[in-house]
Amino acid sequence: MKLTFDEFVSSLTDMSDLLSPPHSSALDGDPGLVPYPQQKRAEYRAAGLWSGRTLPADLVAAARLNEGATAVITPERELTYGELFDAAETLAIGLLSQTSLRPGDAVMFQMGNVAETVIAYLACLLAGYRPVCTLPQHGRREVGLLAEHVSARGLFVQADFGRGHLVGQAQSLLADGSVDEIVVFRGVAFEGAHSGDDVRAAGIDAGPVTLPYRDLDPDQIAVFQLSGGTTGLPKVAPRLHEEYAYNARAWAELLSWGPGTVVLYPLPIMHNAGIALGLQSALLSGATLVLAPSAETGILLDLIASTHPVAIPLVPPAVAIRLLDDPRSTGVDLSGISQFYVGGQKLPLGFAERLRDTFGIDTSQKFGMAEGMFVATPPGASEFVRHHTVGAPISWADEVRIVHPGTDRAVEPGEIGEFCARGPYTIRGYYRAPAHNAASFSPDGFYRTGDLAKAHVIDGATYYSIEGRIKDVINRGAEKIHAEEVEEVALRHPSIANAAVVAMPDRVLGEKVCACLILETGAEPIDVTELAAFLLAEGLAKYKLPERVVILKTFPLTNVGKVSKKDLREAIVRLIEQEKAHA
Ligand code: AMP
Repeated sequence: MKLTFDEFVSSLTDMSDLLSPPHSSALDGDPGLVPYPQQKRAEYRAAGLWSGRTLPADLVAAARLNEGATAVITPERELTYGELFDAAETLAIGLLSQTSLRPGDAVMFQMGNVAETVIAYLACLLAGYRPVCTLPQHGRREVGLLAEHVSARGLFVQADFGRGHLVGQAQSLLADGSVDEIVVFRGVAFEGAHSGDDVRAAGIDAGPVTLPYRDLDPDQIAVFQLSGGTTGLPKVAPRLHEEYAYNARAWAELLSWGPGTVVLYPLPIMHNAGIALGLQSALLSGATLVLAPSAETGILLDLIASTHPVAIPLVPPAVAIRLLDDPRSTGVDLSGISQFYVGGQKLPLGFAERLRDTFGIDTSQKFGMAEGMFVATPPGASEFVRHHTVGAPISWADEVRIVHPGTDRAVEPGEIGEFCARGPYTIRGYYRAPAHNAASFSPDGFYRTGDLAKAHVIDGATYYSIEGRIKDVINRGAEKIHAEEVEEVALRHPSIANAAVVAMPDRVLGEKVCACLILETGAEPIDVTELAAFLLAEGLAKYKLPERVVILKTFPLTNVGKVSKKDLREAIVRLIEQEKAHA
């Protein structure tokens, strides 16, 4: 029996046999989670920032208010709020009856920007599962490591993503016991896996069911997000029900989103920015989310022309550079996009001015992270603030401290230091990672971002600019690649004695990966193709592959004897300049 969304919500009856017993330890206190202090939780609730409800309860409440409005648009289909939540609820019922997944279980995602991803994500929340926001771009190695780290039981895959390779990857993860249950969307399921269509059909047949999402503990984990890049030991940001909902609401409120606001999201939706600034902020405010299947210029221009978005909440500089370079862009009116937020990576100098002069776009900036804190230039901010700073925290309750790196000592006002953050949606610790937590969080709960920043007081308000970073991360078109991870995998090659992975400049992506290698005595030289083939075979994701190899006899050292990545980076810049001069 198929129910409408309203019938569904109003006719909930008990189906406890399907739901009990809940996955035992997951709903109890979780020793891997660093909780917010009791007093802060009370303060955030008293101030109305935290709702006291679970994230899915908030999403359902918002959907009921906007049932007939358009929730999601993709190039393939459009769904109203009623249709979207209907689909998510029937899928959730099907998952609870057809799979062994139970409330509290973590479910990995390898799905792209299609409507099924939004439905499956919401279904997980309604079923009380915890989505793990892995990307379809992640390789087998990352998914396996992360599944182990969060004790994931399920994996949802999109069969027709990319080369269709995700199903094979899922098969091997099921075979080696990394996960227990696989659901295949948009394609045929293999033996031992479920088809998303069949699961949903079973949910439709099952009739009304009380879904478990209302009974979850709002102090517990709703979603697992990945920190910008993963190292050998994965860093997972546990996002809790109320704070994650608040994160999205604070963003939507800052930008005055509501019914009728059209938001275009061009990057992978399962990333934190996709969920917090795109999906959840749109759905909690009654706005319409347009999901671009990729950030390819032609696709974006077509969607802009057909859906007339006012907001693009995250445009990495690489995407904007492609817009500027592409002659098709001048044929589309982009001036209706009043919230064009560039972020994820430092904005190249002079770039906002080019966007203004070419397309009439007023560029705004944002800076944020999977750990929580978002900073953005507020609507109405002056051009100086929008072009030269990343703005101010999006919540009045956010706290920022700029410190001498490695200490908790504040720098003098206006000096550069490490940007540290605490507040109503910034995590207090990574999941199951006491060693990382000791290094990445101050004793009083500030997250040390590893980014260097400077405070500017302009017309009495404080804004921040990002001045570089301390952490060893390569930012390839806003995709974060931890040098340490690539080095660790490269060192498994029998000919490589030592590896130092650094950023090299790239006009479009900002940075690309360069591998500096020292070879074993007598080993044959390795080129970029051979290294790439080796790293891929070891399960590293394709976007992390080095795009240049430099073979050296020794590495430059700092005066404390560490490999000087700064010297390596500078040497590579000189090498690239020399090559250009001789080209
Ligand atoms: P992620 O967790 O993937 O969102 O990555 C967060 C990291 O991206 C931050 O800690 C910064 O290093 C970088 N980042 C984000 N926005 C900006 C920006 N506007 N300028 C410079 N770096 C940024």
